[in-house]
Amino acid sequence: METVSCNNLTGIKNTSPSLVSLRENQKTTIVSVNGVEIGSSKVVIIAGPCAVESMEQLFETGRSVNTGGAKILRGGAFKPRSSPYSFQGLGEEGLKLLSQIRKETGLPIVTEVMDTRQVELVAQYADMIQLGSRNMQNFPLLKEIGKSGMPVLLKRGMMATIEEFLLAAEYVLNEGNDQVVLCERGIRTFETSTRNTLDLSAVPMLKHLSHLPVIVDPSHGTGVSWMIPAMAKAAVAAGADGLIMEVHFKPEEALCDGAQSLNPDEFTMLMTELRKVAGAVGREIL
Ligand code: PEP
Ligand code: MN
Repeated sequence: METVSCNNLTGIKNTSPSLVSLRENQKTTIVSVNGVEIGSSKVVIIAGPCAVESMEQLFETGRSVNTGGAKILRGGAFKPRSSPYSFQGLGEEGLKLLSQIRKETGLPIVTEVMDTRQVELVAQYADMIQLGSRNMQNFPLLKEIGKSGMPVLLKRGMMATIEEFLLAAEYVLNEGNDQVVLCERGIRTFETSTRNTLDLSAVPMLKHLSHLPVIVDPSHGTGVSWMIPAMAKAAVAAGADGLIMEVHFKPEEALCDGAQSLNPDEFTMLMTELRKVAGAVGREIL
């Protein structure tokens, strides 16, 4: 098996990613999410609530991000919460609401799976499967979503190195599924003023090492809604193929991650600024 140049960084040889590696003269991969292409010259904006909470919340928020220019709608039906007493998501009811709003807006849906037993169910409703940070090294789950053939949004583990991240993606590709988008969402450091430390250096590094598209999540990356515009613009300038951002029609009432959610007006304003930044670096917002 061929190896990848991040060997030179880590010194690890036997486990080096291969299918995910970018080889000379190789074309980069475009991931198609129900017709929305991630990995082209156009930057794709994914937005929506952290969790699907109710019909009103999802529909109000979904309509506003659609009007604002998002091309894919996010929303968790199965939520990985630190506390078992926190809102855990609506489960299949949430998936049904997501498919209803897709029907109205035409926006493809990305939603998380946490368990191999949920993959079949989620695949019936979603256009793209999200594999969250906490499960980045859940190897049976990586294999299962690989087998599903669905487009995958793979989030970097909060303690994962770039090499571990690429090896997680390798599990999916190894099942014959190359429709994987890598997502930098912040890592744990000694810093406590933000929820995570958004590692924007991961963007050029991942794009240097791999042919897979790379997007950035400035919501989980910072945990603070007012920082999202600055980091979103920086991510586009750094070469990200897209952004995933949390938007809630009433962030102060959110059951999950309200502090890092933009309201619809803030989202729309940010989209205007992002178009300018994208233009400045030779890209375009899809
Ligand atoms: C999310 O996208 O809502 C989420 C739980 O993200 P992460 O897995 O990056 O924490
Ligand atoms: Mn969230």
